[in-house]
Amino acid sequence: MFLINFTGKAVANGDVLFVERRPLLHTYVEIKAWGPQAELAVDAAFAEMEQVNMFLNNYDPKSDISRINQNAGKEPVAVNKNTFQALTLAVSFGELSGGAFDCTVGPLLALWGFAKEEAGISGSDPSSIAVLQTRQLVDYRSLVFQSEHDQFTVLLKKKGMQIDVGAFSKGYVADCGLSLLKKKGIGNALIAAGGTISAMGVKPDGAPWKVGVRHPRNDGAFITVLSLKDTTVSTSGDYEKFYYQKGKRRTHIIDPRSGVPVEAVQAVSVIADKAVMSDGISTALFVLGAREGIALVDGINGVEALIIDQKGNIVLSQNWPQKMVVY
Ligand code: AMP
Ligand code: MG
Repeated sequence: MFLINFTGKAVANGDVLFVERRPLLHTYVEIKAWGPQAELAVDAAFAEMEQVNMFLNNYDPKSDISRINQNAGKEPVAVNKNTFQALTLAVSFGELSGGAFDCTVGPLLALWGFAKEEAGISGSDPSSIAVLQTRQLVDYRSLVFQSEHDQFTVLLKKKGMQIDVGAFSKGYVADCGLSLLKKKGIGNALIAAGGTISAMGVKPDGAPWKVGVRHPRNDGAFITVLSLKDTTVSTSGDYEKFYYQKGKRRTHIIDPRSGVPVEAVQAVSVIADKAVMSDGISTALFVLGAREGIALVDGINGVEALIIDQKGNIVLSQNWPQKMVVY
């Protein structure tokens, strides 16, 4: 039992639970942490996350990612090590998913009306010729990485190509926050960055952190509640950013192979040790769909998935922790 007072602090066994929320990553990021000097540790974790987000944020024209985009087809761009690492991981998700995940999906997002920082999405279906042409600008294999003595550069080969970090930056930034908390002596914390929620250690009462997976069609309802320890769950949903066009729900996750927004899936949740893995793979599985997606994670140790298809059928990977899920 612990009490949270109006300052956001609580006391349990002499430790202080500190809770803080800040706008970051186009959402609110919340950190709950308890242990010695939790407040200072949370502050340092936010500072680290804000800094890494500055490198990655493709809506900030000065970020590393924007500079790579601006120099597409021109020249390699010197970037921070975090940018280099995050992009290397993004490319590995592309390979893992056979191109279903593609961090260069930016031009297709723009074509369908999703490359907007603010919520309130609207758009109209582009012509099939425009889709075909734009697809030529999407290929994660066109990223060229070079590193030498702690100097890192990245080049996008073709003019007009655009990296979009929306599918993996929350996870990458959450991992950075977690390692900073650990460095500051915190062993028990929860970082919630939109659909990516990382749990380290336990709650102040000794029980595992509890994380609800939201119902994709009933706002406020959960389809399951997970007990998580030293792991992350990420959810990708068709309810995040979408609009209706000719009776079809046009959602923000696009299949780079067809160039068209995915229709077959309502939501995907993925559990993995690293936040960036759970974030990246949840988006990849959204594109792959239930059958291929589950087959993929069943072949990866330590990664589990729950997929809800467009009819509301729930499909679970072999070792998904909670078999009791409701729709
Ligand atoms: P998430 O909520 O993590 O699944 O990320 C969704 C975001 O990923 C979208 O809003 C886009 O910014 C980006 N995105 C859309 N389609 C893809 C794709 N096929 N591969 C990689 N990123 C994508
Ligand atoms: Mg993702």
